[in-house]
Amino acid sequence: MGYNAYDNFIAVVDKAAKAVGMHEQDYLLVKYPERELKVSVPIKMDDGTVRVFEGYRVQHSSSRGPCKGGIRFHQDSDINEVRALAAWMSFKCAVVNIPYGGAKGAIKVNPSELSRSELERLTRRYTASILPIIGPEKDIPAPDVNTNSQVMDWIMDTYSMMKGYTVHGVVTGKDLEVGGSVGRPEATGRGVTIIALELLKKLKIDPKDVTIAIQGFGNVGAAAARFLYEHGCKIVAVSDVSGGIRSEKGLDIPKVLEFVGNKKNFLKDYKEKGVEHITNQELLVTDCDMLIPAAMENQITKENAGSLKCKYIVEAANGPTTAEADEIISKRGIILVPDILANAGGVTVSYFEWVQNLQSLTWDLEDVNKMLEKVMVKAWNELDANAEKWGLNYRLAAYVVAIQRITKAKKLRGMFP
Ligand code: GLU
Repeated sequence: MGYNAYDNFIAVVDKAAKAVGMHEQDYLLVKYPERELKVSVPIKMDDGTVRVFEGYRVQHSSSRGPCKGGIRFHQDSDINEVRALAAWMSFKCAVVNIPYGGAKGAIKVNPSELSRSELERLTRRYTASILPIIGPEKDIPAPDVNTNSQVMDWIMDTYSMMKGYTVHGVVTGKDLEVGGSVGRPEATGRGVTIIALELLKKLKIDPKDVTIAIQGFGNVGAAAARFLYEHGCKIVAVSDVSGGIRSEKGLDIPKVLEFVGNKKNFLKDYKEKGVEHITNQELLVTDCDMLIPAAMENQITKENAGSLKCKYIVEAANGPTTAEADEIISKRGIILVPDILANAGGVTVSYFEWVQNLQSLTWDLEDVNKMLEKVMVKAWNELDANAEKWGLNYRLAAYVVAIQRITKAKKLRGMFP
């Protein structure tokens, strides 16, 4: 049977709940998404033909606040993936304790095959299709895989046009000129860095003695590489969809960043003395202290978990590790900090953006970064303490924290009607 991200989510939920003696009745509702919308999105292509794309928006939970989560454009997206991504958003927001539930959206499309104007029409029509269920008090989208600030600006504009007035708070990750927040583009990578450094601090390891491999060189992977490089870590391998590059003595990250530029170049074409080319699979099992998967889900599986050579994993992607791989990793003594904490920097600064929008205020970068650090470090300390208290690894402990916070909110609110 193929990989099903939502089954994976449920397996970890059950395991975590059982580990702390929770009965299924106590947490049953977190296994079910509150609402799912599937839409057909027709657009006129540049050549005059019509194509119809499938789109989704899943709202997993609104128990702790409005639903929140990104929208991705990917040819492999399907309802199970979006369902899992929505659930992970609820858990993520609970772990960092920001007042949101979770949601996620996707369009099944390879955006690199579309022109800019086709992409704009697709975004606007999708927005119109999901309009009844989104809004600043209901469900607030954001960027995710293959979407960016321009896509968010179109979403904001489409929603506003249909309302008849400008509504900044309907979506986060916008450009600054239309209600975006400073610090948002690099927030996920910054959060990953904060957590990686906290882990090293706990283990009493100097960042300068650490070698790191990063799978994925998009918005998150590239920013994490830059920040960790600036902290003196040795980045020995990075990869993108085209493949990876490796250097035992450490990559010159500013040079690699400059080469990749605005997605104009792929790493397969990068050339430098002492730098060898590797596949994405080779990157995952490369010799390093810390592995940072920053691409897609289902990358660290039972097939390759036994061959990992790292000591620590900090998950920058959503769901990169399967539940079966988790068991192997745990048994091997590899310390893993899960996605629902490690990559929560993005949604945390999205929250700050939304707060600024609702109050018609703008914060400066220093305040955004200070608040981000405060939220992330607090969540890390709470997770670390809970992991110790329950004798669980960080994945299971994070799930327990999330399940407890969400079910507590549900219980306090009571069941309607
Ligand atoms: N797509 C990002 C994530 O997976 C950010 C979501 C948001 O900012 O709402 O966490």
